Amino acid sequence: MLIGLSSGPGLHIDRNRLGTGGKLDLVLPFINMKKAEVMQLGKELGVPFELTWSCYLNSEEPCGHCVGCVGRANAFSLIGEKDPLAKE
Ligand SMILES: [Zn+2]
Repeated sequence: MLIGLSSGPGLHIDRNRLGTGGKLDLVLPFINMKKAEVMQLGKELGVPFELTWSCYLNSEEPCGHCVGCVGRANAFSLIGEKDPLAKE
């Protein structure tokens, strides 16, 4: 989720409707995309996936089993890539 940007594709939530007094914009450019589509876009943009994290646990490294880790692994698989953080 990106906060404070107001351009680009995706859902833009009117800050006046959030009860923030017009101080906060929520822009969700990936809200209508599947995780694999976001991953593919990241691949095309050269995102350093080794620096990204999806694990829901507060640990030193991804657990590989939670919903976030499994979803990330599935998305990498769907785009034909291997998660650089995946354990062998
Ligand atoms: Zn995890």
